[in-house]
Amino acid sequence: MRLDRFLSETTDLTRSLAKRALVRGEVTVNGELEKKAARHVASDDEVRWEGRLLELVGLRYIMLHKPVGVECTARRGLYPRAVDLIDLPKAERLQPVGRLDVDTTGLLLLSDDGQWSHRITSPRHRSAKIYQALLARDLDDPDEAVARFAEGIMLEGEETPTRPATLTCHGPREVELAIVEGRYHQVRRMFAAIGNHVETLHRHTIGPLTLDASLEPGQWRELTAEERELF
Ligand code: URA
Repeated sequence: MRLDRFLSETTDLTRSLAKRALVRGEVTVNGELEKKAARHVASDDEVRWEGRLLELVGLRYIMLHKPVGVECTARRGLYPRAVDLIDLPKAERLQPVGRLDVDTTGLLLLSDDGQWSHRITSPRHRSAKIYQALLARDLDDPDEAVARFAEGIMLEGEETPTRPATLTCHGPREVELAIVEGRYHQVRRMFAAIGNHVETLHRHTIGPLTLDASLEPGQWRELTAEERELF
């Protein structure tokens, strides 16, 4: 890889700022001052910028406890973005794996490995996502709600019913719902379809992976190799 590209991959410098840093004599390769942007660097070369050792970032796999008031979008909007919470170099390359609404909390995965992300979100893989919801009203007939969600229900404006979903009632308003799809606002719309309303929503599980209970809202950590290979 060319040295100017290596610098832009490993720092916040753009290619043209990297060239300027080289001209200013801020870069060394294997302890020698290097000014040539076109210099080829190999994986065993030691590159330093202003004395700081630079290393290429590999693919990253992050588990975030998403707080309320954070968006899962790529573009900057009204709210802070999930990637803004990840203080890693080149964090903007990380893509949320699926979406949570701005007021939904819980397990959000982010990665710059598109194939891995696709495996999780692809409808073919049917990773079950489990949500805890607090409803605005007591369920009139919990057994009927369980049966309707298990059958699949028609959401407003859609032409096919939802795939079978598993509803577990922990209390008249405290429920857990496992779904295998990721339709727009799916959980909220499913409860709206049975005449209720979701007040708070929290996702704690995606497929075989559960949110690390030691992460406070807004905190994140990298997945372990074992966790990454679950998908
Ligand atoms: N379903 C919703 O309605 N909202 C979410 O954030 C996730 C699933």
